[in-house]
Amino acid sequence: MTGKITLHELADIDVEVLKGVGEKRKESLAEYGITNVLELLMNYPRKWVDRTNEARVSDLVAGQEALVIVEVRKVSKFTTKNRRTVVTIQVGDESGRLTAVFFNQPWRERQLKVGLQVAMFGKPDLYRGVLQMSNPLVDLIGDRTGRIVPIYPQSEKTQVSTWELATWVENALERCRERGLSDPVPTELINRLELVDRTAALWGIHFPETMLAKQNARRRLAFDELLRVQVVLVGRKRAFELDSTGIRHIVDGKLQQRFVAAIPFALTAAQQRVISEINKDLAAPHPMHRLLQGDVGSGKTVVAVSAMLAAVQGGHQGALMAPTEVLAEQHFASVSSLLAGLLVPDAKNLFGDRQLRVELLTSRITSERRRELLRDLANGGVDILIGTHALIQEGVEFSSLGVAVIDEQHRFGVEQRAALRNKGESTVSQNSEKILTSPDVLVMTATPIPRTAAMTVYGDLDVSVLDEMPPGRTPIKTFWIAGKKSESAMWDEVRGAAAHGQQAFVVCPLIEESDKLQVASAEDTFKLLAKTELKGLKLGLLHGRMSSSEKDETMNKFRNRKLDVLVATTVIEVGVDVPNATCMVVLDADRFGIAQLHQLRGRVGRGVIASRCWLVTSDPEVSSARIDALVESTDGFYLAEVDLELRGEGTIMNTAQKGRSDLKLASLRQDRDLIELARATAFEIINADPTLKSHNEIREEIDLLLTPDEEEFLFKN
Ligand code: ADP
Ligand code: MG
Repeated sequence: MTGKITLHELADIDVEVLKGVGEKRKESLAEYGITNVLELLMNYPRKWVDRTNEARVSDLVAGQEALVIVEVRKVSKFTTKNRRTVVTIQVGDESGRLTAVFFNQPWRERQLKVGLQVAMFGKPDLYRGVLQMSNPLVDLIGDRTGRIVPIYPQSEKTQVSTWELATWVENALERCRERGLSDPVPTELINRLELVDRTAALWGIHFPETMLAKQNARRRLAFDELLRVQVVLVGRKRAFELDSTGIRHIVDGKLQQRFVAAIPFALTAAQQRVISEINKDLAAPHPMHRLLQGDVGSGKTVVAVSAMLAAVQGGHQGALMAPTEVLAEQHFASVSSLLAGLLVPDAKNLFGDRQLRVELLTSRITSERRRELLRDLANGGVDILIGTHALIQEGVEFSSLGVAVIDEQHRFGVEQRAALRNKGESTVSQNSEKILTSPDVLVMTATPIPRTAAMTVYGDLDVSVLDEMPPGRTPIKTFWIAGKKSESAMWDEVRGAAAHGQQAFVVCPLIEESDKLQVASAEDTFKLLAKTELKGLKLGLLHGRMSSSEKDETMNKFRNRKLDVLVATTVIEVGVDVPNATCMVVLDADRFGIAQLHQLRGRVGRGVIASRCWLVTSDPEVSSARIDALVESTDGFYLAEVDLELRGEGTIMNTAQKGRSDLKLASLRQDRDLIELARATAFEIINADPTLKSHNEIREEIDLLLTPDEEEFLFKN
């Protein structure tokens, strides 16, 4: 082989070529998921010990955490009366001695041999006059010198030490020196983006001279990970746009104008902006593929209707798919009322206009009605069809589906998104060429996700954001209720609201382990409240195991104010719209995530009366940054950012990562700027070279490093 060494070549070199890797070591490495040199090089250190920051043993102070690098001098093990093993080691440096004890970690005796250099991190205590660390974190660093020592992920079972790994990595990198490592990112780009080259990055991540060098190395390698992902996403987006022809919709037609003029409120600036973003896509010759993010209540429905009307204007149809029957019915009710009386210009009609026809298709309608509906759908008599996944079933044929809207996207998979789009795909012959036309697709979600996350998870879509609430809403007041006393004051308030004709939701404690237990918990809560705090009020119960007609009946009673309080599980999380409900109680709120609490809270505050939300935690001592955040803010995007922070690393794949998996370094939280940079770079590359013909190596690396699972993941969730 000649030329610079590619990652592909590295992946073809077995670790056994490395000095010191024999049969046994090879097996141990395999347990780490390392079988070839590439995997070895991409097994990045877990942390880096800056030896200039280490303490000397004589500097240790009881009660204060510290890192020391010491030599193991004596190891002993004994078993206590109640059969606990205790491994005690004596360690020290030139300044003094220290004891470390490990409880129930018998393998430490084998791990910590006399003479080894180890980094120990822990809080020393004074025990019988001697400083002692209990169960400190220990890293074997061996006799590696250098100011910054890499510490590799270690497992107690595999007997590979961090310094052996470092030695092999060094050996591997040394052997690459002569030919040099190939860098798939053009030098011009590297310079412009101020990234270090790949060789420097690999040396720098494993053996940094300074912490800054390590940062730069990490930045480059994380950029590469993100670039691969973005090239895939942007590539798919472009391929989709190139492969299919869209409909050039009429966006300045009478229908949209009449609609906007007829709605009983003025559009918010955000709605106007988003409608015009969408109109631009609709009018364009390629199919739209856009995500509309907007918090609960931000007015997405109007936007969706406006888009569907553009289709109807040109003689096509619109479809709106919702994840549940309740939601589909609600959409049907609100869309029908928004469109009531709207006339469609119709050339065939003597009077020039006809009534617009909106229909609902769910699995609940009778088969006779269904037949009739499907017939009219196929002959163009239905303008807008609303429904559940029933829309994508066999036998549903549109005359010409022009705009497909999918609500609450996180409940649908990519396949379903594609299935609805397929309903509108048709092949037309044009100059003896077959051309595939696709409908425009608008995906709506009420789950705000931070911009950078959207770029990754929905990276194949364009994104519009409704970031403004319609005026005239009274913000929801949120309270954190901890302890019995404040709880009882809260129930007083709920009863008070009911006395004024307002309604309340009570969300039952979440039990993740089992659906059955969850239902039992809801039933218990319902019975208990009916006997105690909410005695005398009319209570209803709603949970996921009820039949849909039972659910309906209860929802209808609640909507018609036949019930004061709806005790429910998270089935009410999405879409339920009852403006007269002003109280939301969430029990054991600390068990829910931020996004879920935000969705639940969005069930109130939908009318003119001020609403309140109480987040109840039974333990008065519990501290929850999540609940604090909800009390502080009702802004979904802000909360999504907080959520990302609190969930710590915010890894993109958030699946178990082992062996070959890409995206080891990049994180949504830390690398926002890098994600944007990678996306912009991906656009630059794909725009100039849509099939990566002259970026062969990038394509190879994607094939090598992004497993099909990971690619799938990017399009799911
Ligand atoms: P989303 O689906 O985004 O949660 P909806 O589309 O259901 O929100 O709108 C919530 C409520 O706000 C509806 O009752 C709707 O009629 C109303 N609404 C929408 N846009 C406006 C506006 N610009 N001004 C006043 N009310 C609006
Ligand atoms: Mg909605």
